[in-house]
Amino acid sequence: MTDASASLATSYRTHTCGALRATDVGGDVRLAGWVHRRRDHGQLIFLDLRDRHGITQVVIDAADAPDAHAVASAARSEYVVMVGGTVAARLPGTENAKLPTGAIEVQATAFTILNEAKTPPFYINDPDAPVDESLRLKFRYLDIRRDPMQQRLLLRSRLVQSIREVHHANGFVEVETPNLIKSTPEGARDFIVPSRLQPGSVYALPQSPQQLKQLLMVAGVDRYFQIARCFRDEDLRGDRQPEFTQLDLEMSFVDEAAVMDFVEAMTIEVTKAVVPDRPIQAVPFPRFTYDEAIERYGSDKPDLRFGLELVDLAPDLRNADGAPSSGFRVFDEAIAAGNRVKAIAVPGLADAPRSRIDELTETARRFGAKGLAYLAVEPEGTIKSPILKFLGEDLAERLAARAGANPGDLVLIVADTTDVANDVLGRLRADLGVRLGLADPNVLAYCWVHRFPMYKWDEEGARWDATHNPFSGVVPEDEVLLTTVSGDPTRPSRDDPAGRARAMQYDIALNGWELGGGSVRIWRRDLLEQSFALQGYSEGRMRNMFGAILDAFEYGAPPHGGIALGIDRWAALLAYQTNIREVMAFPKTQSGNDPMLDAPSEPDPTQYAELGLKFVGLPGKPS
Ligand code: ASP
Repeated sequence: MTDASASLATSYRTHTCGALRATDVGGDVRLAGWVHRRRDHGQLIFLDLRDRHGITQVVIDAADAPDAHAVASAARSEYVVMVGGTVAARLPGTENAKLPTGAIEVQATAFTILNEAKTPPFYINDPDAPVDESLRLKFRYLDIRRDPMQQRLLLRSRLVQSIREVHHANGFVEVETPNLIKSTPEGARDFIVPSRLQPGSVYALPQSPQQLKQLLMVAGVDRYFQIARCFRDEDLRGDRQPEFTQLDLEMSFVDEAAVMDFVEAMTIEVTKAVVPDRPIQAVPFPRFTYDEAIERYGSDKPDLRFGLELVDLAPDLRNADGAPSSGFRVFDEAIAAGNRVKAIAVPGLADAPRSRIDELTETARRFGAKGLAYLAVEPEGTIKSPILKFLGEDLAERLAARAGANPGDLVLIVADTTDVANDVLGRLRADLGVRLGLADPNVLAYCWVHRFPMYKWDEEGARWDATHNPFSGVVPEDEVLLTTVSGDPTRPSRDDPAGRARAMQYDIALNGWELGGGSVRIWRRDLLEQSFALQGYSEGRMRNMFGAILDAFEYGAPPHGGIALGIDRWAALLAYQTNIREVMAFPKTQSGNDPMLDAPSEPDPTQYAELGLKFVGLPGKPS
């Protein structure tokens, strides 16, 4: 630490508060920082002085330095002070092994109060003291002064630094794209900014730099990256904020494998640089097709730190003719209807009390299941279950074995449509895996999910919505499927072959979070127009929204693809956090407010006037 601190010397300090060691004993130094803690013994004042770099103990002795002692007597917690003095070895037995500076103290000869401080609204010197969340955001500058936030912002800074280094080393050019642009849909609402120079018109803040980075590929930039701010007006959750930061990148002359291989190597290198002590579960990262991920984990962002895989029980529920044969009506009806009966075997829950099982059933219902069946495999191997009387012991045992249950496990079973069965069990799996401590919090389990369906049928709009972004390319062998039954892409219907087309789309997941996603793009105008038509864009809207990129594709667009990774999510997971707010300097509250700056707030009336705007109110909301 001393090396870096040496260059931090200014007229206020010769060293930072984290720099001094036993080898500095005898030296004259000057330190500046905040009063972290103060112990006043009358004649002697002990003061811990803090800055971002560490804490140094300062002793002010009235006998040696009466003037300094008089000034120091007035210093209180969080005052900003400057201390001049001599570095001395601490008396044997009073060293503090927990502090890097713990072998020494500074015996003050001069003491200046640079600035006073009010009593802070929460403890800054105790990282474990509970702090009200709204106070943290209102006084964010004090919250960031606390050690946990300092450490997280440092981690984030190292993350971004490492990302930049790896990209520069791999031929990427960092390009800034503008924030005042036109709508770039990523499935959220736009934030819009009215134009003063062109009254009645608005800019949209980018949901992502998607179109611009593709245009950079047409421009021949070859490999682009950006630490890009994105804006999406949607409801907030733990892993969402209205503005957030992406590592956005795009590469020319690539196929899916080239992008995934680069991103994987980059991810590994960055992880090792930022959190060298945390194990990466598997290298190369496991790759699943979307279908496989859903079938095995019920999620397109599976947490692979634990097993708990979804198992299809159907083979044991049919007789030799394929007819339903379990004897339990719910299962038989599901099999007859072509639905699914799937299960997970949860370790150690066989003796869960009735109330716990009711709670799990309630959760399954909330997730959309009609009910939840279960088989408890007792420690000695016998099975207890309310449906045992229908299944019989033999079948119950076979089902438990198929589910992979060991003695002591509880097998949870959902009989429903494929979508519901997978989704409900996938959510139970994710929830239980973490709650039962099956996930090692230290491990970083990255994985890829790719080959997503291109489109999802939107009944209301009678169109094929892009499952990811509207520019994603189709897997080459599925290009023939980009058609409609009617033969006219502007008249799609739910039975179109397009519904079976798979996208060259890949998502990267980390510990159950979607970390990022991208695709190899459509880079031909005719195909892009066809895809937009399937997505329900009329020719006029297509021109209005995507005119630039459609035109650009007529001037020599190279094959290209890219991805974006959420920096906030990545930093949060590397810092053991479950809310991205914890790694953002100035985040918003759940309702999108900044309580520190008091934003959003009413505009100045002249601002509205200049823009020709008038707020007319919203039904049901105060105007
Ligand atoms: N623009 C996409 C997103 O923001 C990422 C990409 O496809 O590169 O999710």
